[in-house]
Amino acid sequence: MYETDAATPTPSWRERPASQQPSYPDRGALEAVTSDLRSRPPLVFAGEVDSLRRAMAAASEGRAFVLMGGDCAESFQDNTADNIRLKLQTILQMAAVLTYGASTPVIKIGRMAGQYAKPRSTDTETREGVTLPSYRGDSVNDHAFTAEARVPDPQRMLDAYLRAGTTLNLIRSFTMGGYADLREVHSWNRGFTDNPAYSRFESFAGEIDRAMRFMEAAGVDFDALRQVDFYAAHEALLLEYEDAMIRQDSRSGRLYDTSAHLLWIGERTRGPRDAHVALLAGVHNPVGVKIGPSTTGDDVRALMDELNPDGDPGRLTLITRMGSGRIREALPPIVEAVKADGRPVTWVTDPMHGNTITSENGYKTRRFDTILDEVRGFFEVHRAAGTVPGGIHVELTGDDVTEVLGGGEHIDEAALEERYETLVDPRLNHQQSLETAFEVAEMLRR
Ligand code: PEP
Ligand code: MN
Repeated sequence: MYETDAATPTPSWRERPASQQPSYPDRGALEAVTSDLRSRPPLVFAGEVDSLRRAMAAASEGRAFVLMGGDCAESFQDNTADNIRLKLQTILQMAAVLTYGASTPVIKIGRMAGQYAKPRSTDTETREGVTLPSYRGDSVNDHAFTAEARVPDPQRMLDAYLRAGTTLNLIRSFTMGGYADLREVHSWNRGFTDNPAYSRFESFAGEIDRAMRFMEAAGVDFDALRQVDFYAAHEALLLEYEDAMIRQDSRSGRLYDTSAHLLWIGERTRGPRDAHVALLAGVHNPVGVKIGPSTTGDDVRALMDELNPDGDPGRLTLITRMGSGRIREALPPIVEAVKADGRPVTWVTDPMHGNTITSENGYKTRRFDTILDEVRGFFEVHRAAGTVPGGIHVELTGDDVTEVLGGGEHIDEAALEERYETLVDPRLNHQQSLETAFEVAEMLRR
């Protein structure tokens, strides 16, 4: 358990430059909310966070594979049982396919239960001559395009905390109560391969089927497989919120950010001397950093110095988001610099954020083929360098939205108009997510 009354020694992030933060009109209201949050129970526990750290260490050595997925931005409105169940189900199905492909455990991490704050490329948004502050995620302001809705409201942090708690509660019930039973997850997959668009995966699905039947016949204890570990992660963007969720573990004396198991730092806030790195340097959680195509060897060494000076395996994950056209040139020098340094990292590919385009009819979208090509490039680079491709990080939803172009259902530009629902970035829909899992499983088997 955590000490609730111990004065939490705050890391020195307050003295560092902090970008992408809301400017709250009322400091008093902000302080009231953060002090309230400090008195509330943690959302995750130190022991679980430590388990994930060990699992991430295994992934860095090729003894496990990471699957991270979920919305670009969760919304309060979509914080419903159906939405959470469908997303969880999609991730578990993908994990079943990947487990078979990789022949190693798959570490399942949702961009869920706290993915409520977004970095934006501009501070303001203009529509038809009206300029308002940008939407920064439901934990900051409201998406509606009115002056009132866009004012940052600290009370939203409390709402985000409570919704993250109820999301985690539902995830825990589903994953502990047998809903994630491997046999059931596998039978959900059969519906996917029944669709003629995916017939090329049929023999693969058939192999998984035979493997399941073999295990059953051999007397494998399926009851032991009924519960799965499922972890929560989000971008640690909103410094006041993350700081208010830091607790000291009474057993070890260590500090944990108890808002999620894993926190990551975005491409826009990863300056090694900046506030976001300083905040996460002070906690024991496994930490991710997104790195784009302009990243240098010196940049990653500086990040390792701040976030993992002693080179503890499982502590630091580098989530590369280069773009399919650049990954084969941009990633090798970074991989070589990390190899030369010697301290371990877990390499994960985010094939989404370097591949965002605008369609001719004005939608922010991505092409399914380009996404897969970046994953392919990721495997190629790591295989050539002798390093370990440790996992994949994708934006997805369990619904049948139409936000990403292509895939077996051949979503075209006109189809984007049908169900384009995301608040920020385009997500793989349910079918595209499963298709991705089958494709990546094949890459893993090679
Ligand atoms: C995101 O993951 O939604 C995101 C903003 O990513 P990045 O920091 O890589 O741009
Ligand atoms: Mn995004």
